Amino acid sequence: MGEGERFVLATTNPNKAREIREIFFAEGIGVELLARPAHVPDIEETEETLLGNALLKARTLVGATGMACIAEDTGIEVEALGGAPGVRSARYAGEPADDEANVDKVLAELAHLEDPDRRRARFVTVAVACWPDGRELVAEGTVEGRVAPRRLGAGGFGYDPVFVPDEGDGRTFGEMAAASPEAKHALSHRGRALRALAEALLSAS
Ligand code: IMP
Repeated sequence: MGEGERFVLATTNPNKAREIREIFFAEGIGVELLARPAHVPDIEETEETLLGNALLKARTLVGATGMACIAEDTGIEVEALGGAPGVRSARYAGEPADDEANVDKVLAELAHLEDPDRRRARFVTVAVACWPDGRELVAEGTVEGRVAPRRLGAGGFGYDPVFVPDEGDGRTFGEMAAASPEAKHALSHRGRALRALAEALLSAS
């Protein structure tokens, strides 16, 4: 990835766009990240995998803008729920997508499981870069942890207030991100996926 190369971000989620910018900035990755143009219609995430949805979003944006694009798709996989919500994390409690309702649903489904070992979960992010000439790069990041019994912390977004990473100090991502966004990014699925993508981009250039 040449310094100064430009990518359009596929995401419509301002929290994700902010985190991607923070992660690249913290790593000193000198590429220009452009916001998704408002004229591009919403893309329905119809694929059955995170990779499928990430590629769908990136390829659509490349087609709509003629520019290189970075996209990602993320899910939380709860072991006791057989890996759900997984690729359906955004709409787990139904349409329209509602983070509060999604977290309520997961907490309710795990309410009978008090043992932290039975509340194991992981976040997975698949990040992709796609170019108009057909080149594509894929990277994945995961973070293992557990679902907290209740919400803690006002930072981050989505399921962050109920996710406690194993490699942390017992705080939720919501608490960590409230104190320092970089503390979340150092361990997070998105931080890992984007750093791996940047490394692949650099060695491909
Ligand atoms: P999508 O990747 O936009 O489909 O998002 C999947 C779901 O996971 C949404 O409900 C997001 O709010 C949630 N989500 C995505 N990234 C994170 C994160 O870093 N922390 C917590 N929740 C997230």
